[in-house]
Amino acid sequence: MPLVTSKEMFKKAYEGQYAVGAFNVNNMEIIQGIVDAAKEEQAPLILQVSAGARKYAKHIYLVKLVEAALEDTGLPICLHLDHGEDFEICKSCIDGGFSSVMIDGSKLPFEENIALTKKVVDYAHERGVVVEAELGRLAGVEDAIKVNTKDATYTDPDQAVEFVKSTGVDSLAIAIGTSHGAYKFKGECKLDFDRLETISKLLPDYPLVLHGASTVLPEFVGKCNDFGGQIKGAQGVPEDMLLRAGKLGVCKINIDTDLRLAMTASIREHFAKNPSDFDPRQYLKPARAAIKSMVQHKIRNVLNCSNRL
Ligand SMILES: [Zn+2]
Repeated sequence: MPLVTSKEMFKKAYEGQYAVGAFNVNNMEIIQGIVDAAKEEQAPLILQVSAGARKYAKHIYLVKLVEAALEDTGLPICLHLDHGEDFEICKSCIDGGFSSVMIDGSKLPFEENIALTKKVVDYAHERGVVVEAELGRLAGVEDAIKVNTKDATYTDPDQAVEFVKSTGVDSLAIAIGTSHGAYKFKGECKLDFDRLETISKLLPDYPLVLHGASTVLPEFVGKCNDFGGQIKGAQGVPEDMLLRAGKLGVCKINIDTDLRLAMTASIREHFAKNPSDFDPRQYLKPARAAIKSMVQHKIRNVLNCSNRL
């Protein structure tokens, strides 16, 4: 089974009113935990790599690990670049075997975002690769990108229509109040569902994407803190809100923070209970299992995409 694009996945997700999980990957254990979960759940799957992950693990290692996962599981997997900041990184991933890229021109003025996105779309489509873009700006921290709350802007529905028409981009990440990282809200989580509904109505049959959508599972934050962690005030997006988004045209939900928390909680617990251990296999094995069970939980309860292959 070669890599697939997200085109068919999104078409089915839109019709079935559910979302596909896009999980950020950095290393072998994370990839194995995620694909094992997807295989057991028979769920569609996007594995995504940020510029930071690519720098950390090297492009070639991540591509080969994902190729191994394809061969090992027989699952249709889409390999996606998360937050490509310029044409060059998108081109490098397209030329280097990815089936999907994101060009994030959300910090640029509207017309410049259109021009940059169009350039990537033209290059990608000629090579059978699909493209995600972003309009509006999320608050929070994603790798090297930090956006203060005051600089965050929600997506304008009319601009979204003009943007999609002018660029031909395959999917669009929108800003409706989610944010990157573990500290998403102070107080109650509020997402602008009216805005989402308006955008979705103006763009029928069109896949929307939600970034910054980890639920920051209290179970893992609690475990991190029980075993020496200092993660205070972390708060994510409630599961029922994400399920609701999946019924309103959101076909891709990004998950990174929850993977980090699940893995770190497991490793912290391991060392608290086994302080003399120094065999990486002994702490990475339960960490991989924690990722698998967290992803299964997401597939069933947040994405609603079990048995959707
Ligand atoms: Zn993002």
